Amino acid sequence: MKWPNKFVMFSAAIGITFGLCVLCFAAPQTPRPKLKVFISVDMEGISGIVHSEQTTSGTAEYAAGRKWMARDVNAAVAGALEAGATEVVVNDSHGSMRNIDPDDLDPRASLISGSPKPLSMMQGIDASFQACIFIGYHAKAGTEDAILDHTISSSVVRAIRVNGVELPELGLNAAIAGYYGVPVVLVSGDTAVCRQTGEILGKDVVTVAVKEAYGRLAAKLVPMGEAMRMIKAGVTEALGKVGRAKPFKIAPPCRFELEYFVSAQADMGAMIPGTKRVGARTLGFTADDYLEGFRTLRALIALAPAR
Ligand SMILES: [Zn+2]
Repeated sequence: MKWPNKFVMFSAAIGITFGLCVLCFAAPQTPRPKLKVFISVDMEGISGIVHSEQTTSGTAEYAAGRKWMARDVNAAVAGALEAGATEVVVNDSHGSMRNIDPDDLDPRASLISGSPKPLSMMQGIDASFQACIFIGYHAKAGTEDAILDHTISSSVVRAIRVNGVELPELGLNAAIAGYYGVPVVLVSGDTAVCRQTGEILGKDVVTVAVKEAYGRLAAKLVPMGEAMRMIKAGVTEALGKVGRAKPFKIAPPCRFELEYFVSAQADMGAMIPGTKRVGARTLGFTADDYLEGFRTLRALIALAPAR
């Protein structure tokens, strides 16, 4: 058998190498499925928090409160990344919305900080997300045995109803996510907000109770380390079944009712065209688009004088 000459062998070697390289680059790589996760984080339902002095800037206990807030949300971010999240966006959703020190947030997540924001606690959500998570949420105004229960404003709002159903913040905000087709997959907070999550969003949504209230200002706390483990594991579990989760949608027309604490607050809102007085301290209005109705609601609350 005759060996090919050196030129032929060299050419063959180049050809084989090139071919292998092309194969390497052309080989179909399994694309990582997109899993963009939106986290709205409030403060009253954060592990350890039982009093407004821990949630109000300028008070002695606030530094601890905001540290705990970052800890809860970092546990959620870690759980999301473990479940394969390709992007995590955290929206600071309490008070001034500048509670989380950017230095304290897991650097793998991005932070939306400050207020006012058009969509408030839901600023940043859109149809590009696959899942939404609520951390540190609380029960609606007037709930017994619920830490710092209120709905949006504890000095203005007694109740908010949409199409006849009274909703806590978790329901109002889940409907914004639902507007964009994004399901809420997990809610953390006290046992009361976990119960209301089941009532409004259904039993498939994972809930993580980090405390059980003995009233409005006292609770038995899950030990902090255990609470972090529960949040992380809960998020991983919830994102594992995201394909089956259903967005919470409110079908238009959306009939909003805002019940204020005092009639003087309704007096102001009643001057806005489109609102109708349906009680001494209650206004109603209808929107064909949920987001438009939500923005009107926010404006009516912001306009109301303190009681
Ligand atoms: Zn809050």
